[in-house]
This record gives sequence, C-alpha cells and structure tokens, in this order.
Amino acid sequence: MKRLLVLGVIVGAGLIVTTAGLIGGQARGGAAAGLGPIGTIQKVTDRLYMIPGAGGNTAVFMTANGVVIVDTKLANNGQAILDQVKTVSNKPITHIINTHTHGDHTGSNMFFPASVDIVTHENTKANMERMDVFKDLANKQGLPDHTFKDKMTLLNGADTVDLYYFGPAHTNGDAFVVFRALRAMHAGDVFATRGQPLIDTNNGGSGVAYPDTIAKAVKTIKNVDTVIAGHTTTGPLKWQDFVDFGEFNRLFLEHARKSLQAGKTAEQAMADLKLPDKFKDYNLQGGRGGPGGNFNVIYQELQKK
Ligand SMILES: [Zn+2]
Repeated sequence: MKRLLVLGVIVGAGLIVTTAGLIGGQARGGAAAGLGPIGTIQKVTDRLYMIPGAGGNTAVFMTANGVVIVDTKLANNGQAILDQVKTVSNKPITHIINTHTHGDHTGSNMFFPASVDIVTHENTKANMERMDVFKDLANKQGLPDHTFKDKMTLLNGADTVDLYYFGPAHTNGDAFVVFRALRAMHAGDVFATRGQPLIDTNNGGSGVAYPDTIAKAVKTIKNVDTVIAGHTTTGPLKWQDFVDFGEFNRLFLEHARKSLQAGKTAEQAMADLKLPDKFKDYNLQGGRGGPGGNFNVIYQELQKK
C-alpha cells in the first residue's frame, strides 16, 4: 500500500526523486512511462525482445550460449523478468547490462545469481555503490563485475554486443547497448521517451552536454535501425527517432541560452518554446522541475559556468 501511495505521489507531481533512490527514472505519465506492472515480452527483431513495465524496458537478447538482458527494472521484479524470458528461451541468463544507475533499471539485479556477469559504465558502478540498496553487504552480488570507460565489446560473431559511452546526459554513466548483428540498440534513459528527458545532475547528468552526447552517438554508432527507448512501452522506435531526439535537445538548449540571456524565467522559456512540426507529439506537459521543465535544470548549469 505504501508503495502504491508513493508511486501515486510521484506520478501526480511528475517528480522523480525519492529518498530511497528506488525510482530514479521516468515517472511522468505513469503506466505509459513504464511504471505499471511488468508487461508481456514483445518481439523486437530476430533474437531480440523487450519486456516493458515495472520500471525501464528490459531488453532480452538470445545468444548461442544463453541470454543477455539489459536493465532489471524496479526491485522485486527478478522472478517476473525470468518468467517472461522463459517464454522465449530455456537458456540461462549469462549477462546483465545496466544502462545506468537508477533503481528502475538496476532494482532487480540482486535477484540473479552471482554467476551472472553484470556490466556497466565505470561511473555507473560508482553511482550504484552510493545507493542504499547496494550498501547492504548481502546485495553486493547485484553490483557490476565488469566496467568500461569508452567502449567495450561482449561476446563475438552474431552475438556481439557493443557498449558505448559518449559523455554525460541523463547521468554520467549512460551506456548505449548495440546488438551489432541485429542492427538494434537499447538507448537507456538518454532516450527514455519522446519528450523532455530527466537530467539527473545528482548522478552527474548534464543538460548542457546532453545534445553533444547524442551527437557523438549518432556520429559514431553505425548500422542501427531499431532503438529500444528507456521507457516507451509501445514497442521499439527507429534510429531516425533517436537522431530527431538529439535535435530536440539541441533546440531546447539553444532556447535556454537565448532565454536566459534575454532575462526570461524558466517558465517564460517553456511558454515561448517553438519547435518544428516533427516534435508535435512530444510530451512537454508537466515537465521536469515543474512549469519551467528542464529549463530550470539547464539554467542552473549555465549560470554555474
Ligand atoms: Zn533513469
């Protein structure tokens, strides 16, 4: 009951932060943003599935010797994830990749046995070590076994998974996970939904770096058609959606700079934000940080410089 109340408050306020750090993710929009119960596994492409709900989207990748999963949702969803995986594979889970630290992407890590290799960006490991849930010695097995700095490749041949890091955005440890042979990527919460992203400055995120980080990803990552976003529950998106999302963040930042220079408040900046037609279905309502949305966060960053 308590959890339901907490979720209700979070969804209602569009706010993200809880003292427990359990929900660091995309609370806006409730079920649409993946906070409802765990959903049914969906096929993304050959050998790749996604499980929506109960936190961020979990990617499920079939390899020759097992199953690689990306992100483990909120706490206490391990068995439910495993039950969904079992509907498409009898093989064991060999690897967990966490796209970033938030508790709606790492929350069920400790359900899985210590033999499962957990891989994250090095900053994500450091961020996870600061979370209350991982400070408990009994939960150490949920912490990463391997980390990377700029790029890492797991497995080989048709099973190759490339992990990339391009700098701060949603946090300072956002991994882009590319299933090379499938031309598919899990973007984590750098691209959570088509709308304002959460910029978690407490975990090193940056609205000023955000568009550059996506631009580097767009420039460097080749041959991806299909993108699993962190929290959209209606199936995968396309590479062009990711490219457009980068442009959205670039335009947002440019507008923030101009508006700040013109002495406008964050609320005024939000009110006069004009975007090209292709962004008309983006969710700008009830945004991050109240009526000023991400302009509040970006102003603070710009004023520090
Ligand atoms: Zn997140």
